[in-house]
Amino acid sequence: MAGHDQTIGSFLWRAERLYPDTEIVARTHDGIERYDYATYADRTRQLANALEASGIEAGDRVATVSWNHHRHFETYFGVPNTGAQLHTINPLLPDEHVQYIVENAGDRLVFVDPSLVEKLESAYDADAFASVEQFVVMGEAVPETSLDPVTDYESFVGEQEPSYEWPELDEDQRAGMCYTSGTTGRPKGVEYTQQMLWSHTMATLTPQGLDIDDGDVVMPVVPMFHVNAWGMPFSLTAAGAKHVYPGPSPDPEDLARLIEDEGVTFTAGVPTVWMGVLEYARENDLDFDSLERVMVGGAAAPKSLIRAFDEEFDVTMLQGWGMTELSPVGTLSHLKDGMEDWDAERKYEKRQKQGLVLPGLEFRVVDDDGEEVPWNGEDFGELYIRGPWVTDSYFERPEADETDFEGSWLKTGDVVSVDEDGYVKIVDRAKDVIKSGGEWISSVELENALMAHDAVSEAAVVGVPHERWQERPAAFVVLADEVGVDRDEVKAELVNLIREDYPKWWVPDATLFIDEVPKTATGKFDKKRLRDEYGDESLVADEAPDER
Ligand code: ADP
Repeated sequence: MAGHDQTIGSFLWRAERLYPDTEIVARTHDGIERYDYATYADRTRQLANALEASGIEAGDRVATVSWNHHRHFETYFGVPNTGAQLHTINPLLPDEHVQYIVENAGDRLVFVDPSLVEKLESAYDADAFASVEQFVVMGEAVPETSLDPVTDYESFVGEQEPSYEWPELDEDQRAGMCYTSGTTGRPKGVEYTQQMLWSHTMATLTPQGLDIDDGDVVMPVVPMFHVNAWGMPFSLTAAGAKHVYPGPSPDPEDLARLIEDEGVTFTAGVPTVWMGVLEYARENDLDFDSLERVMVGGAAAPKSLIRAFDEEFDVTMLQGWGMTELSPVGTLSHLKDGMEDWDAERKYEKRQKQGLVLPGLEFRVVDDDGEEVPWNGEDFGELYIRGPWVTDSYFERPEADETDFEGSWLKTGDVVSVDEDGYVKIVDRAKDVIKSGGEWISSVELENALMAHDAVSEAAVVGVPHERWQERPAAFVVLADEVGVDRDEVKAELVNLIREDYPKWWVPDATLFIDEVPKTATGKFDKKRLRDEYGDESLVADEAPDER
């Protein structure tokens, strides 16, 4: 290639020179921290020196287990710019998944948030963590911990020089990594090359993307362990925008305060987050003067939410659909030229859909017979997608590569219709998983856990709609023998079985005993029929366990 490859280091180079005084703000355990791009760039170079001093080389994997704050953001450029690979780990996963992920990725160093040290200790397993040589706690001190050897972030980077010569990188160099639980079985690693991150960033900066510029103040609420906070830290830097990071487990009050105090113009997160913020804003008469747009994605945004932000705050809610495999943004629900003049209801109908594909991507919708379905808003099929920021394989998972790709196309597992205007609408999910509050719950793992109980002959778990969490798990259990069995007792034992091995929020909201699980022609559990027959909201409790 002539000239220079497509690498993300160019974004930081530009931000440092054009916007040295623009702020990066973070809510942390020690209060609000703020500095500017000039300082940020220095600290990424200090971090690079620290990594080098620890023996980290190009191609090595460096993991983070952390919430959204400036130190986590420092790893976003500080790690990949050296040629190493930033592997963000989701701390909400069951311990066994974290063990599998660390072992599979072979991480050499793990950065951990002070508030997640205990979680990491609980997931720690000497064999699975054999590749890990060092832990760095992302604060100014090391808490009491069994993690070893361990140092604190400020000592780790503090003594290093802020000068560092970034290497010239190839665009095919692995820059990032994130595991997805979006289908059955073990989590699958998706690797992001420099080129994938670069092209995703450029597409998100277009007016039909997120349209971010240097006047924006942007708060990524979507966690940085979740597909790079939907790529926002890269997009904001490329645009020279001000960053606002909400820190560890922010509640609606924390988010509302940051929006008001920092003058946030744009923010992004899953629907559940915005429902909480909406409730809080109503109760406290907030008007969010500075806020212009909110990106909502990861799960379907209810029309009532889009309408409420529009009518009560004059804020445009932009729905996005994406996947870990897509770095992650695929579609956005912008109105096309001319639609602004439509009446409000018609506009909400459109905006409630997952939207228009980003420039740079192509898709097909394929029915069960392998035929492409027409764009008529009614026929549906599986969405296949391809493009420069769509992965073409999983990390060391040839069996998944066989089933999840067809040539250059990624088979998304989402069932969609497309209307005459090209708006994609998700109508179902072919993949056997439940998405609750933007996080995956594996129905197959829950079924196996339930079927491990002696009294159970079959168990099927499906996601049923829930107003606040979008979906919650409901379990359908067939007893091996009805005679002499106390259903309440079995139910309590089943709940305990799941609690032992999984986070509390994985426990099904409802457990129903049925005579038989409906089956498909090929003998598999027919979850569609189960959902159709039982999948109404009355099945689930009002309050899912709030344990994230
Ligand atoms: P992320 O949660 O960051 O979008 P994941 O890879 O964890 O990425 O999940 C991707 C899946 O989440 C999609 O395949 C789809 O099933 C679901 N999803 C994402 N965005 C939406 C949306 N706006 N509406 C409905 N479902 C969505």
